Amino acid sequence: MFKAILITQEDKKSAASVATLHDYQLPEGDVLIEVHYSTLNYKDGLAITGKAPVVRSFPMVPGIDLVGKVLQSDSERFSPGNFVVLNGFGVGEVHWGGLAEKARLKSEWLIPLPKGIEPKQSMAIGTAGYTAMLSILALEKQGVTPDSGDILVTGANGGVGSFAIRLLNRLGYHVVASTGRMEESDYLKSLGARDIIDRNTLSEPGKPLQKEHWAGVIDCVGSHTLANACASTKYGGVVTACGLAQGMDFPVSVAPFILRGIKLIGIDSVMRPLADRIEAWQRLSELLQPEDYDSISEEIGLEDVVDTAHKLLDGKVRGRVIVTLKS
Ligand code: NAP
Repeated sequence: MFKAILITQEDKKSAASVATLHDYQLPEGDVLIEVHYSTLNYKDGLAITGKAPVVRSFPMVPGIDLVGKVLQSDSERFSPGNFVVLNGFGVGEVHWGGLAEKARLKSEWLIPLPKGIEPKQSMAIGTAGYTAMLSILALEKQGVTPDSGDILVTGANGGVGSFAIRLLNRLGYHVVASTGRMEESDYLKSLGARDIIDRNTLSEPGKPLQKEHWAGVIDCVGSHTLANACASTKYGGVVTACGLAQGMDFPVSVAPFILRGIKLIGIDSVMRPLADRIEAWQRLSELLQPEDYDSISEEIGLEDVVDTAHKLLDGKVRGRVIVTLKS
């Protein structure tokens, strides 16, 4: 028997609570894992609160991230006692996920816990930190360097935004953070943001072409913010888009693309091939320092998950939330 967050659905309405489940109820997979830590991402918040149709089958155990110890394995890649990390691959959406004391998963979704990162630290990073790293790798692959100019990070207080600021700072970039919580400016500066701007300056409809500001953008919010970020990116600059916290729409014109040659790179972390994941986690292990994890994350138990998911979607959570299943 083990404890988990279980989302059930009745009359098209979903509800989430802590439940006690049996091992035989776990879905199919070749690796059985004792989960030590999971996290709460924006997508988990949507799944748990039912605010968007993230969950595709019920009942569902949410949790798109986990780290844990292998208990049983039919895969040659993993043996009992190994620590493994899971991010995405539809886990917590179509396959039972990490907000549980046990999980049974497919070995091809798992990577070994990277050297130099503790299990708990890996969940301070989670999908959010790994997506921030994928976004920075995309900027680098398009030739953006610290000498290119300022980098804008939107959704700065969120998990992706916080890690993006910290990592860009470690790499020597001049980071400008856009936030709706100006009162958190000291936190954002402590992560390495050099300037802070109010997100209202980006979130309303704007001109198709605006003053050139950004050599690179890491956008977590979509909608008018992403459109305005594109319109104010410098000639040849690079914008990455990973999120939709403001909205799924993208009301942009072709002007910044055909007159300034800017590039827009979509970032997907969910179905990302293993080689990209391993590269991103390797870079995370090189760049992050022990103090980074504590400053960006808070820790909760399974019983706090549902309340915290509501706070996350209300924009009241700063940085990352680690969920402890076995400390
Ligand atoms: P999060 O921790 O909830 O942070 C989202 C941040 O966005 C908030 O902290 C807030 O920052 C800002 N925000 C919230 N509502 C907003 C609004 N109406 N207008 C403008 N800004 C708003 O979420 P996260 O885990 O960092 O994820 C960020 C986004 O990336 C989410 O949309 C998530 O689904 C997406 N994501 C995508 C991938 C992928 O594979 N593509 C992976 C991970 C995450 P401030 O308070 O500082 O303004």
